[in-house]
Amino acid sequence: MIKDNIVGIKSRITRVCVALNKDEREITLVAVSKNRTASEIKEVIDSGLIDIGENRIQEALLKYQSLASSTYNLTPVRWHMVGHLQTNKAKDAVKIFDLIHSVDSLHLALEIDKQAKLADKVQDILIEVNVSGEPSKFGLNPDTAIEIVKEITRLKNIKISGLMTVAPIVNDPEDARPYFRSLKGLLDKINRLRVVSYELRVLSMGMTDDFEVAISEGSNMIRLGRAIFEN
Ligand SMILES: *Cc1c(COP(=O)(O)O)cnc(C)c1O
Repeated sequence: MIKDNIVGIKSRITRVCVALNKDEREITLVAVSKNRTASEIKEVIDSGLIDIGENRIQEALLKYQSLASSTYNLTPVRWHMVGHLQTNKAKDAVKIFDLIHSVDSLHLALEIDKQAKLADKVQDILIEVNVSGEPSKFGLNPDTAIEIVKEITRLKNIKISGLMTVAPIVNDPEDARPYFRSLKGLLDKINRLRVVSYELRVLSMGMTDDFEVAISEGSNMIRLGRAIFEN
């Protein structure tokens, strides 16, 4: 059951944090509910999680509307866009998402900024970085990320909160460690160089198979799907 899964995940988060001497309240657990129903999302919310992640706009809009028309609109749910975002969907994304994890070009950022301005909103985003360089993955090349972050910080209706990555699929989660370390290194570098006038704090990395390794490398936002929804 979803509730039991969440209890189990939380105790695993606690265990890692205790070992790292870290405050577990610093870790945000995003329930990635792609391919799951609105009623499964309600179960997640009833289990005490308020961060919901989706990877496709159309699907997210339907579930968002379904929950908003029920009593669940009273709960302080935060919607996260974790999947690739096409520029022509930026308008819809700005409408419902509290945090867009997948900004991977200046072009997309410009459109989000434009739509956010029209919606009278400052859109919170993360910059997606392809640290492994796998051609199948979205995200900025780490070598150009800093320049693009610099450009995006000029946009008035966007606030960059941090970085996100999707690590390669590996058999042993330990093999994902270098990618997590590399993203943390990039975040530290951006902060050290004061590329942004404030500190970037959010590191969105770690999924069902590797979240403990990700946390030990500095992740403070993990995105879990299967661990929550599968038995
Ligand atoms: C599906 C997805 C997740 C969750 O993956 P699991 O392996 O099921 O935990 C996390 N992040 C992104 C971007 C996803 O698309």
